[in-house]
Amino acid sequence: MTSTIDSKRLPRTDLPPDVRRDTLAVREGLPATAWGENSEALFLTSSFVHPDAATAAARFANEEEAFVYSRFSNPTVMMMERRLAALEGTTGCIATSSGMSAILITIMSLLKAGDHVVCSQGVFGSTIKLFQDFAKFGIQTSFVSQTDPAEWQAAMLPNTKLLFAETPNNPLTEVCDIAALAEIAHAGGALLLVDNCFCSPALQQPVKFGADLVMHSGTKFLDGQGRVVAGALCGPAELIDAKFVPTMRSAGMTLSPFNAWVVLKGMETLSIRLQAQSARALEIARWLEAQPAVDRVYYPGLESHPQHALAMKQQSGLGGAVVSFVVKGERAGAWAVSDATRICSVTSNLGDTKTTITHPSTTSHGRLSEAHRQAAGITQGMLRLAVGLEDVEDLKADLARGLAGLGA
Ligand SMILES: *Cc1c(COP(=O)(O)O)cnc(C)c1O
Repeated sequence: MTSTIDSKRLPRTDLPPDVRRDTLAVREGLPATAWGENSEALFLTSSFVHPDAATAAARFANEEEAFVYSRFSNPTVMMMERRLAALEGTTGCIATSSGMSAILITIMSLLKAGDHVVCSQGVFGSTIKLFQDFAKFGIQTSFVSQTDPAEWQAAMLPNTKLLFAETPNNPLTEVCDIAALAEIAHAGGALLLVDNCFCSPALQQPVKFGADLVMHSGTKFLDGQGRVVAGALCGPAELIDAKFVPTMRSAGMTLSPFNAWVVLKGMETLSIRLQAQSARALEIARWLEAQPAVDRVYYPGLESHPQHALAMKQQSGLGGAVVSFVVKGERAGAWAVSDATRICSVTSNLGDTKTTITHPSTTSHGRLSEAHRQAAGITQGMLRLAVGLEDVEDLKADLARGLAGLGA
């Protein structure tokens, strides 16, 4: 998808060539329709009409880029794809029905029986499950340390095709060294994919550090207000056109235009939300560190975070909106703090303007064995806060209520 000159290609928004990312976040997409709408149109249509049979044939044969059927592409979905690609700094993007289906389309498009994947053991639980499920189709995955690139190097095999990282991760906020992993991947002839959910391109653009592909759950910060489930995969346009688009056509893990529209509008405020939510999260993390009932705080923006320097380099100097902390009193203590909140939502979603509080060991990480959780450092006293946009003093007071009861 390149210039506006080629009449066989769909036109782009008419913007000066050197506009910056904040402008692209608001403006990139497709030109307005003949009606001149200022807010992007929502195209709820399953198919598109052709002027004549010959044009229909050319479009079905891919000789002319056009909208044909919304399982393949749709103007609202394409606007979202172009905007997200612009923010991630990639030439291509394909939207999917969820974050998980972005991983599914990656596996189906790039891998075959006999291939091998190296993945951090600290990634999202369903990601681990999905890679494990593909063992029955002959794709093996080795799970390695989130933080030690030497383990990734040691796991490389001649048939390794994909390295999969997520940084920072949930709930421990451990950081992967993207540049180091990209080097290992490329030396072994493999691609590096980074799940960029927690930072979003507002804070972190993995391709700047050498990643080849970037995956999103649009459900999180891209929507930003907890409304829709959505996903996307960003990368080189040639690779997406050659490998991913055919999979989308046949397998149909398509994003609905309505959900794409919600995410598209969410991206307009992404940068200012992430900055404001990161600032609140840092203030709460510092405050939590000073609370006697809190044993430990995990937040990349704190100097006490073991990978603070790396996180600041990769994340535009900001820690993001997710803070985890361990309170005194094990599970009872954590539940007491959670139950005493009157503002925070007790839910495991994140990336919302509403602050959410989660007890990982009995919810998001409840399916792991206690031994596995202990080894990973996800203890019964841990809580995860995904900080939203409420007044930070109100959030502190909301947590202080439960913390006060823990003695210390
Ligand atoms: C939520 C999430 C996913 C999965 O996204 P869905 O939109 O729920 O399918 C993948 N990775 C991370 C890091 C997530 O937080």
